[in-house]
Amino acid sequence: MNTTSHEPTTKGKNSYTFEEFVEKRKNLDWYRDELFLQQAVKHFTGSEFISLHRAVLSFSPKVSSRWNRLAEQNARPEVRPYMVHYDAFNNRIDRIVRPMEMQQLEKEVFGEGLFSNKMRPWESFVKRMLIHQLGEAGVACPLTCTIGLIALLEEYPDENHPELQEILQHTKEGLEGDYAIGAQFMSEMQGGSDLPANVLEAVPDGKNYRLYGNKFFCSVAHADYSVVTAKITGSDKVSTFIVPSWMPGDKESEKRNGYQINRIKWKMGTAELPTGEIQYDGALAYPIGPVGKGIAVAVGIVLTLSRLEIGIACAGFMLRAARETKLYSDFRTVFGKKVKDYPLSARTLKRIENAAERTTAGAFKIYDLFLRLDRPLNPGIPKDQPLELRKQLFNLRELVLLQKICATNEGAEVLRDAISIFGGHGVMEEFSSLPRIFRDVVVNEQWEGPRNLLLTQIYRDIQRVADWYSPIEFVGSVLSGAPQEKVEHYAERLTDLLQKPVCGEISEESIMAAEEWDAFSDSFFKEYQQIALDELKKSTG
Ligand SMILES: Cc1cc2nc3c(=O)[nH]c(=O)nc-3n(C[C@H](O)[C@H](O)[C@H](O)COP(=O)(O)OP(=O)(O)OC[C@H]3O[C@@H](n4cnc5c(N)ncnc54)[C@H](O)[C@@H]3O)c2cc1C
Repeated sequence: MNTTSHEPTTKGKNSYTFEEFVEKRKNLDWYRDELFLQQAVKHFTGSEFISLHRAVLSFSPKVSSRWNRLAEQNARPEVRPYMVHYDAFNNRIDRIVRPMEMQQLEKEVFGEGLFSNKMRPWESFVKRMLIHQLGEAGVACPLTCTIGLIALLEEYPDENHPELQEILQHTKEGLEGDYAIGAQFMSEMQGGSDLPANVLEAVPDGKNYRLYGNKFFCSVAHADYSVVTAKITGSDKVSTFIVPSWMPGDKESEKRNGYQINRIKWKMGTAELPTGEIQYDGALAYPIGPVGKGIAVAVGIVLTLSRLEIGIACAGFMLRAARETKLYSDFRTVFGKKVKDYPLSARTLKRIENAAERTTAGAFKIYDLFLRLDRPLNPGIPKDQPLELRKQLFNLRELVLLQKICATNEGAEVLRDAISIFGGHGVMEEFSSLPRIFRDVVVNEQWEGPRNLLLTQIYRDIQRVADWYSPIEFVGSVLSGAPQEKVEHYAERLTDLLQKPVCGEISEESIMAAEEWDAFSDSFFKEYQQIALDELKKSTG
């Protein structure tokens, strides 16, 4: 008997069941059953492929099944993180209460040692692309912030601060099996984009500093260490600091390092992740990186890595959306035909699949460039390297920004389309994880720089380097491999746009120019992704 039939039984009961779909989805393995992802891994990892493929094959069932179940449990509104500010003896503790399942998931994910020296970069990358398919799940942002913390510590080793070396060891390799979690607190009430407007004060205290003031968006408020931007007393320039959440020995007694968490924000998405508002009142902070260059350090290293990670996450979100819509549209029958057999549905499915593959191929290609470059992270636009290297570094910088805005924007479209393939069931939180991931992707679009800020940044960057890297050359280099007429088309459009008042004062002309710049950036980056996809498909047949 066809279990998907919706013929009523004689007793008026409805025998319709979703079981076939639910079972198939439950048994999906997000790597083994994702041939396209395997092809991408093969194309980009070359001689490493076989051993890497094996490692990911054995890792993937855990994400696809156990971690996915935990993520679903942690997403329930009744287990959202909340705060207990005081203990029974009137001590201020600011405990963030999270469900056991959340702590278990976090322990298992971080226990993978994804940032350890023993983990190969591509292996970590592919595993993270699978983990991101859980949605935020209370682990994606912590992983992302930890990557930035590690990069910062590695970029600026400091003999005067052995504590920083210990923090690095704790986050990368773990201490007795405990892997530390990082956070990054830059935004204040008056400015998230406008970081130079930071007013948090760092008061010198010997070789360290004491922080005073407020940070208004503090995700991963439960982290062990955070990267914090602040202005040193008397300076109008921002510097960067590392702040332990507890001083050694204080974690057990819940005595925080000179700060209070005023509250946890109630957010549209990433709800499992505690985003706090923090008041510093003398927190001990270790300085890191050049004094007064905090913006360049934060943007060039920490935020660049977060933005890169968001691109990888969006590829993961879209792969999942494509896989699950494909399955459902092959299960669900409407008016006597499967959903997938209607041209209107088929084109939506095709659009989702193309976006997922294009975004994935683009994310791999950008990461490939990242790995190929010696010291790919730079505070500010590179100045001192040989010209050719400088151009490659510039390409990477702009591709990371373009990917952040395009993949989050398209991610939201893809998730909405995917929800629509499921119809009414698509918006049911317990029926599918897609509504949750949809909300997460909208959050991803805002943090680490919203679209218009990054569009401005890209425009100004291209203008700023024009004397050593012409827009025409930049387009030719990024779109290398595209047909000549396409390269010429984009080069002409870019040259033309750079003459227009995209970032000028408000006028009919500047609004139109801004619209064109947005459309150009989107289409230019999609062209890059398409080249990546074509190369991948060509090489893997
Ligand atoms: C859920 C969540 C968690 C977060 N967690 C953290 C965290 O852990 N740490 C942290 O530091 N921050 C965090 N943030 C803050 C986030 O990074 C900021 O919200 C973001 O950078 C934007 O800053 P803003 O909210 O102040 O917006 P604004 O800077 O006020 O931006 C408002 C609008 O102005 C536009 N805009 C800004 N500058 C320009 C420009 N030059 N040209 C054109 N348009 C412009 C923006 O695109 C936007 O549309 C979090 C945000 C969210 C939503």
